[in-house]
Amino acid sequence: MSNLSNKVILTVATTGAWPQKSDTPNIPLQPEEIAEDILDCYNAGASVAHIHVRNDENKASMSFEKFEQTVKLVREKCDIVINLTTSGGIGLSDEVRIKPFYELKPEIASFDCGSMNWQHNTVFENSPSFLEKLGNAMQEVDVKPEIEIFDAGMVYNALYYLKKGVLQAPLHFQFVLGVPGGMAATVENLVYLKSLIPQDCTWGALGIGKMHLPVMYATMALGGHLRVGMEDNIFYAPKVLAESNRQFVERTNRIVAEMGKEIATPQETREILGLENWNVSGHTK
Ligand code: ZN
Repeated sequence: MSNLSNKVILTVATTGAWPQKSDTPNIPLQPEEIAEDILDCYNAGASVAHIHVRNDENKASMSFEKFEQTVKLVREKCDIVINLTTSGGIGLSDEVRIKPFYELKPEIASFDCGSMNWQHNTVFENSPSFLEKLGNAMQEVDVKPEIEIFDAGMVYNALYYLKKGVLQAPLHFQFVLGVPGGMAATVENLVYLKSLIPQDCTWGALGIGKMHLPVMYATMALGGHLRVGMEDNIFYAPKVLAESNRQFVERTNRIVAEMGKEIATPQETREILGLENWNVSGHTK
């Protein structure tokens, strides 16, 4: 195994569920443009693609066909690690949320570890029965859960599911800070959340919107992995829209280099996260 201690995994979340072309014309929303955008970010050094899809009206969706198309196009273009969301919309059935990763077998899929009041206007529901079903389904098809944490109680949910066998060690966490209804994006909150997880875990963090950069710097200082992209933040600087997701990747590359670290290649990412048994066309196990 190569020396991975100074490698930082960089996930790009190109699309998300909510931003529209009216928010930024530079966001990719349909399979062809998402795949092109991911290739562009891969060429700029991104390690992982966190993928959401939209329906034909560009609205939040868990359309299996759109996922299938997108994943196929990405796999044709490059060997970036693929991470599919299981939360591409509100009020969807368990089956609709599970089917894309179950059938397409990405290396990673998101596991949102509890329910919350989402942005003060709806309930982001991840019920106990859903989470059990989700964790067990991921184990069946050997997809690694990325445990998304919006609030401290969700870490304790993850530890509960670890004990119960719904999740398996080593866990991989993603702290998502700054969503209204969840924990604010502060350095103090990040330090606190990191203190709650077991030693053998891997983790990353991101701040939504204008807290993107402060959380990125703090995450690097604490030894975590990074995520950029228009799912989380469409502005490159105050009042300046990012021209592309690639622009975020390029900036992160410079920041990581200045810290004396390097962005992990997809292959190094597989080693860090214990995904060695996978290959780009689906895993080999
Ligand atoms: Zn997402």
